[in-house]
Amino acid sequence: MMGTTPIFVLKEGTRREKGRSAQNSNIQAAKAIADAVRSTLGPRGMDKMLVDSMGDVVITNDGVTILKEIEVEHPAAKMLVEVAKTQDEECGDGTTTAVIFTGELLRRCEEMIEAIHPTVIAQGFRLAAEKAAGVLDGLADSVKPDDLATLRKIAATAMISKAVSANRDYLAGIAVDAVQAVMEEVDGKLVVDEDNFQMVKKQGGSILDSQLVDGIIVDKEKVHPGMPSRVKAAKIALVDAALEVKKTEFDAKIQISDPEQLQAFLQEEENILGRYVEAIKNSGANVLLCQKGIDDLAQHFLAKEGIYAIRRVKKSDIEKLSKATGARIVTKIEGISKDDLGKAALVEERKIGDDEMTFVTGCERAKAVSILLRGGTEHVVDEVERSADDALNVVRSAVEDGKVLTGGGSVHAELSLALRDYASSVGGREQMAIDAFATAFDVVPRTLAENAGLDPIDTLLDLRTAHKKGKKHHGVDVYSGKIADMRKLDVVEPLRVTKQAVASATDAAVMILRIDDIIAGKEFKAGEGAEAGEEGPESEFG
Ligand code: ADP
Ligand code: MG
Repeated sequence: MMGTTPIFVLKEGTRREKGRSAQNSNIQAAKAIADAVRSTLGPRGMDKMLVDSMGDVVITNDGVTILKEIEVEHPAAKMLVEVAKTQDEECGDGTTTAVIFTGELLRRCEEMIEAIHPTVIAQGFRLAAEKAAGVLDGLADSVKPDDLATLRKIAATAMISKAVSANRDYLAGIAVDAVQAVMEEVDGKLVVDEDNFQMVKKQGGSILDSQLVDGIIVDKEKVHPGMPSRVKAAKIALVDAALEVKKTEFDAKIQISDPEQLQAFLQEEENILGRYVEAIKNSGANVLLCQKGIDDLAQHFLAKEGIYAIRRVKKSDIEKLSKATGARIVTKIEGISKDDLGKAALVEERKIGDDEMTFVTGCERAKAVSILLRGGTEHVVDEVERSADDALNVVRSAVEDGKVLTGGGSVHAELSLALRDYASSVGGREQMAIDAFATAFDVVPRTLAENAGLDPIDTLLDLRTAHKKGKKHHGVDVYSGKIADMRKLDVVEPLRVTKQAVASATDAAVMILRIDDIIAGKEFKAGEGAEAGEEGPESEFG
């Protein structure tokens, strides 16, 4: 009797995939994602044009940006997008590398999984990742925080694959100066607080018009032409309240029976605004940065007092200004006092392109710098911003950790050799997994070669030969097509970027590998992965 009636445990419509099929589906999906970004790796990688459902266009070479823009369905594919995001948050660079490496680890698993249990593979991968971290530490060179030349090389390397490449030395200089301006020692360690940077994009001009500003830029103009354009020794009031007379929220009628009442009514409005401006003037402020609106009449009064004022300043800008100038954010205008004011050496309106912007420089408190980014079109400025962000982050990592590696696949070749040796010393079934891990590292030099139109197999063989001879810093010179010393070519990267990429790739691969059951309440096109090679993102973006 029993066993004949079906029992429903899962909700109707739930899809389930188990065992090998689940593993396969996940691996295929992850590979498809990795293949989607492959062609962008390295100086000779290509860009992608992404068009979203609203028709907005993004042109980029940045791994994490590409993956954030494309809408990924498959749960395992989403995990790869997470790898890119983690990499971006931790180091700001190396996102493509991290994703390609994860995909390659899983590609290696595909072959092994027939023979070795996933938990054994996972164990081998963990051992390999630990060993790799040690090898990387050994390979790294020290860099001093005041070694500007090396820091500039690091910034330029991070930007070489981007559209801004031709101007990378100029932007590298800005990135290094920016980091130098805000780095500080906290408990004996150098720290570069990201909150102290601000990037302001302004379309127009050329990339070479980009500049570093010692202070904060607010993309607003003064509200009244009668106000001064430059205020030296600025005493700044930050106000989170409107310099306006409150309008009632519901319709109300006021019956006025004689003209004097009307006069009195208008007079009262004027009085209120007058009191606001009076309070600000009495505090000693000569600059007013207001988060809300400023009434026309109040603008006029402020101009008469010679106070520089801007309105509708973004909350985030107000907060930065508060930190940098030491001003307290005031919500009740009439209660403002001299203690609430912040200080800056100069507040000035400058014309950038067609627009006026407010520059607050020489701030008294925190170190704060802004980078004004220029570029011919909106898409260019956006890519300049992403590139500058990568550059700032690599310089920050290098300054904070004081360790750098050579790029161009040189460390990956070295890791590959070291891990093969290590594998034979471990032995057992894990040996195969560690060997696979070692082979997976080849994906970086191989892809760099492929994207440069070189023969990947010859390049890998040459690279391996060089490393066997002890040339630890030899990598793929994508311009000459030869194997060359990356130190001589100034291709240097922070240790953190590669270390993080190995760590997050291992975590993601192990996690995906250990899944043998997918239960999905929502349709995710199970099995899609199997055809992903032809149908998946690869054909669309690869
Ligand atoms: P990611 O998103 O991983 O940072 P990139 O497109 O920025 O991807 O490419 C980074 C890779 O390009 C790194 O492996 C780096 O070492 C390599 N690379 C950068 N400059 C050169 C160069 N001049 N020659 C060879 N490889 C380079
Ligand atoms: Mg990069």
